[in-house]
Amino acid sequence: MKIFLAGICSVLLLISDTGSKQYTGEIFDVHLHFSGDVETQIANLQKHNVKHVALSSAWDDQEKYRALSAPEFLIGLMFPCPGGIVPYSGQRCFSDGESYPDLKWVREQIINKKIDFLGEVLSEYYGISLSDSSLFPYYALAAEFNLPVGIHTGLAGPNHLSPNFDPAMGDPILLKEMLDSFPSLKVWLMHAGGPYLESTMTILKEYPNVYIDISVLSDPEIIDALDFEVAMKAFIEAGFEDRIMFGSDNGDLTKMINAVNKLDFLSQTQREKIFLTNAARFFSLSINTNGKMQ
Ligand SMILES: [Zn+2]
Repeated sequence: MKIFLAGICSVLLLISDTGSKQYTGEIFDVHLHFSGDVETQIANLQKHNVKHVALSSAWDDQEKYRALSAPEFLIGLMFPCPGGIVPYSGQRCFSDGESYPDLKWVREQIINKKIDFLGEVLSEYYGISLSDSSLFPYYALAAEFNLPVGIHTGLAGPNHLSPNFDPAMGDPILLKEMLDSFPSLKVWLMHAGGPYLESTMTILKEYPNVYIDISVLSDPEIIDALDFEVAMKAFIEAGFEDRIMFGSDNGDLTKMINAVNKLDFLSQTQREKIFLTNAARFFSLSINTNGKMQ
């Protein structure tokens, strides 16, 4: 009987231990794009308790999200668009078909509160450096209005419709010139620069204003779960737990949330930072940090 009870106790302990690893609080997805079926997309976000989203897509497609409040959407400015179109999905970024938006128009949109951040900056798809001088007038506007900037780094999937795509231009080390020129700018490396993770580490160490999002990296359909674990361990051990943000990049939310929950070395506080509070700080959102954990 004693043995039987001990058996039950250890099963209960096991259950409560596993349960304690699940983050069930609200989520901030800092990397989302337009989906052809917006209604289904919204329902899926709600189902996963995603309450805040940083969205970047073709300018006109973003209109559908502006008025929504559950989740709350921050709206980006996607550029420069290779051939004037959004990679993969192919819509025109701007109605005039241009790759770069007119600077005067951008300033007006910022003043009218139509742009919350610059991004996804597509320099790599366009085939130019993250610090290309053609981007500097836009970075200057972001600095002037204290808007965060999200830049695509790392590699890309197939069929991106961008003939000048240059994988060498996704190395985060190329950002140094830009970061030195705009020291107050809040910048995040989308996809955390993977697989150029050594460069990502160097940039994070040298520039405290730089954050990363773990979209793609945390997607087990694209990146091996062990590689994600190794990368996350390295970030945490290097002391960057306050600068890692969750992003889905339209991937499978269930799998990506589970991927973070499965990382045994993370404390509950660290999970809450990754899913919610780091992004809230980065985007200067005063939200109720009632991320519930069990
Ligand atoms: Zn990207």
